[in-house]
Amino acid sequence: MIKKKICVLGSFAVGKTSLIERYINSIFSDKYHTTIGVKTDQKDLNINNTDIRLIIWDINGEDDYQKVKPSYLIGAAGALIIADITRKDTLEAAIKLNELIKDTIGEKPIIFIINKDDLKHDWEITHEEIEDLKQKNYSVLLTSAKTGKNIEKAFTDLTKAIIGLH
Ligand code: GDP
Ligand code: MG
Repeated sequence: MIKKKICVLGSFAVGKTSLIERYINSIFSDKYHTTIGVKTDQKDLNINNTDIRLIIWDINGEDDYQKVKPSYLIGAAGALIIADITRKDTLEAAIKLNELIKDTIGEKPIIFIINKDDLKHDWEITHEEIEDLKQKNYSVLLTSAKTGKNIEKAFTDLTKAIIGLH
């Protein structure tokens, strides 16, 4: 069993905890509750006959990028950086978080997640901005923790990138 630590990062209330809950427990809640501190979950997967245990780190509470401590990132094999499609500033924070990761632990597989895709009428992040990220060679996925869209794919794609399968 290979163990890999991954971090889930992003501004306050973008849906980090919801994405993890949806992935691990297949549930979604509209209730917002913040717990201060770091929470870790694990999930076992098998990709091309390789057993992998993902150790998923979620920061709760005051978690804008200035407050991500290096100790949180150390040892991570990759990260999901989450933005909320209804809040443009969360994409700017995501781009800064990407820089912070690079500066702290070097180049690692990263997927940019644009979450809350189900809230179509409230989009503040445009298709052009999403295309622009892709042009810059970032991996980008639109997800919804509410509907489950692309949640499994986000974690699987990141794991494949970590173990060098694409
Ligand atoms: P965190 O602070 O990044 O961990 O964010 P949470 O996971 O606690 O989510 C913040 C709020 O956004 C909660 O009220 C969630 O129910 C809501 N939320 C999270 N993901 C989605 C989503 O994909 N769609 C919608 N409509 N709401 C979401
Ligand atoms: Mg949270």
